[in-house]
Amino acid sequence: MESFVLHIVFHGELSWFLSRRNLEPELSLVRDRRASIKDIFESLGVPHTEVGQILCEGTPVDFHRIPTQDSRFDIHPVAPPLDVTCPTLLRPDPWKSVRFLVDDNVSRLTGLLRSVGLDAKHIKGAADTDLADIAEAQRRILLSRDIELLKRKKILFGRFIRATQPYLQLKEVLTFFGLEGPYALFSRCFLCNIPIRPIPKATVLHRLKPETRQYVDTLYTCPSCQKLFWHGPHCKAMLSRMAEVGINITPHNVA
Ligand SMILES: [Zn+2]
Repeated sequence: MESFVLHIVFHGELSWFLSRRNLEPELSLVRDRRASIKDIFESLGVPHTEVGQILCEGTPVDFHRIPTQDSRFDIHPVAPPLDVTCPTLLRPDPWKSVRFLVDDNVSRLTGLLRSVGLDAKHIKGAADTDLADIAEAQRRILLSRDIELLKRKKILFGRFIRATQPYLQLKEVLTFFGLEGPYALFSRCFLCNIPIRPIPKATVLHRLKPETRQYVDTLYTCPSCQKLFWHGPHCKAMLSRMAEVGINITPHNVA
């Protein structure tokens, strides 16, 4: 096949992902093989999960478009909020629910997402191949700071987490995916990622320390690990950290 020239403009934050030798957000490239626009921009460093719109000569196209001689592409980042339940040209098969898969490199997000009632799975030490398989099979949004992992074909929805501080990471995820509440706060087991249930205090008195027995009336238990939960000082501290980073925790959310 003869070589040809194509032109690509990366918009907004996407230029941040370009590998060092391609720092210019406007590129003219010579290619001599048939490759999709997705393969081409990923080879330049940009994971497909960060891309929200591709224009070819001003017309929206999908990831599979094969560039031709002198074709011009504009690659735009995802414009938040990204609603994974709404079909788009790039992601035509929407999901029914919002569920996350958390990579080791942002693992502290797991407990924080669960604390606001969201389904967040984390498997310590999981291989990239396994994470991609789980994300595809269970329809989970991958949260990671591993750009190569986010390029995997099986990852339909994902986010390269920008923030480094865990509460700011939580704010980033909630904002990016349009999860502005109200939240089912402290409704999920921190360990097992499943909803907890109320349990009569009288049935668990023998498991409570004297001070808890005295001051706590409403208790919950996890159907899997049987751990007991109640809204104590730890919950209040978490809520104030969330409020500090601008997460909208309204009083009626707090059980
Ligand atoms: Zn549990």
